[in-house]
Amino acid sequence: MPEMMFPSPEAIKINENEYRIEQGFVRCYLFIGEEKALLVDAAFGGEDNLKDLIATLTDKPVQLVLTHGDPDHIGYMGNFDKAYLLEEEIPACQEMAAKAGTELCVLKEGDHINIGGRFFEVLHVPGHTPGSLALFDRLNRIIVTGDLVSKMMPVFLFGEGRDYDAYLRTLQKLSMMKVSFDQIYPSHGEFPLTPDYIDKQIAAAEKMRAGELPALDPPMPLPAKMYMDGDVGFYFCM
Ligand SMILES: [Zn+2]
Repeated sequence: MPEMMFPSPEAIKINENEYRIEQGFVRCYLFIGEEKALLVDAAFGGEDNLKDLIATLTDKPVQLVLTHGDPDHIGYMGNFDKAYLLEEEIPACQEMAAKAGTELCVLKEGDHINIGGRFFEVLHVPGHTPGSLALFDRLNRIIVTGDLVSKMMPVFLFGEGRDYDAYLRTLQKLSMMKVSFDQIYPSHGEFPLTPDYIDKQIAAAEKMRAGELPALDPPMPLPAKMYMDGDVGFYFCM
């Protein structure tokens, strides 16, 4: 797809210290702390400069963390000197990072990202991709989940690197944590989601696997079928 086709990213204020940055059907998040700002994901990319847009929102230094290496999450990576991610996602990002001169820095499960007065815990949440990560802000009871859960936008679960069983285990792990957060910040679909969406997504995955959901044709050409259970679902190959 030529870069020209992507719309310009648009920042929408969530509150004093949080923005969501929308680019078409993908979303990044900017959290502003006392010492620095945390940018979660880098959208599709394009000719605009995401760093310039962020400079209109904060003058703090920006740390970029990637939930995973899919193309709709790393597009503006080259605007930044460094990008932080889990090791398993390096192969997906290496070529673009080398071209742009962005250094890839490895995070691990249990690491804390301290932006000054606010902490995000790194969780390894494999399934959608092998090294997907979520960021858990325990104090503010928010979890940023990348592509694990979404409403009105099926989760991609077919093709290389996707793993249904790992995905289901990840959702079950998050479901056990759901008393610890009130809001889910997803990369696609409606914003924000409530914790019950974890269980809705689990139910849909189990029904799909059991052959209880109709195999629909996706709205765009994909080598997969679309399975919907109410407002949650998947692109998947049986
Ligand atoms: Zn995505």
